[in-house]
Amino acid sequence: MKEIGRTRQYQLAHEAAGLCQACDKPVVEGLRRCQKHRKALNARSREKTKKRKAAGMCVQCGSRRIEAPSVSRCAVCLKYMRDHQRNRT
Ligand SMILES: [Zn+2]
Ligand SMILES: [Zn+2]
Repeated sequence: MKEIGRTRQYQLAHEAAGLCQACDKPVVEGLRRCQKHRKALNARSREKTKKRKAAGMCVQCGSRRIEAPSVSRCAVCLKYMRDHQRNRT
C-alpha cells in the first residue's frame, strides 16, 4: 500500500484547523506556525540574512547586491521592496 501524500494531508488538515505545521499548537494569526515555531523560523532566517550580508549578497535572494552603503539587497529586490512599501502606505 502506498502512503504518498500523508505528510501533505497532515499539513493541509492542520492548516484548515488553524494549527501549527510543526506541532499541535494554534497558529499566530495570519501565519502557519505557532508562536514558538515562528520564533525558530525567524532565528533561522536571521542567521541566513547575517551570512548573506557578510558575503556581500542580497539578503533577500542571495544575488550580488548593489554597491551602495546601507543597502543590503540586489537591484531587483530593492525595487520590489520599494514598490511594495509604496503600495502599502
Ligand atoms: Zn508549533
Ligand atoms: Zn535580491
